[in-house]
Amino acid sequence: MSWIDDAKRVAAGILMVREKVDAATADFRGRVCTACSRLDRKTLRCSECGCYLKAKVWAKVNRSPARPRGEVTHCPLGKWRDRDIANHYRAIDGKPPLPPPAPRAAPVATSTVPSPTAKGADGGS
Ligand code: SF4
Repeated sequence: MSWIDDAKRVAAGILMVREKVDAATADFRGRVCTACSRLDRKTLRCSECGCYLKAKVWAKVNRSPARPRGEVTHCPLGKWRDRDIANHYRAIDGKPPLPPPAPRAAPVATSTVPSPTAKGADGGS
């Protein structure tokens, strides 16, 4: 990363962040973004919204880099468990809502304790 990228990131933090979230929220956001395919790993910017990751994960509200407005800081793809907020702004921007999240797989039983009603292989107790 060049010094220009560093300077842009610092400026974004100063200009963009109005209020901060707590450290646990910022950490959660950072982990989600780090695993996201939409993160430009060279510049550490989100390819969806253009925000710099290090500023964005801390912001509670921010000035949008793409729109002339303040926003509740959110993941534009709803990956921060904030799909409703993302869809709010998508509706304002005339975009279709994000699809509902995929259903989770049913948990696999891992208990090795036999059920009290189960019978042994020999049919006995
Ligand atoms: S804000 Fe959302 S879309 Fe952008 S990098 Fe983070 S998780 Fe990915």
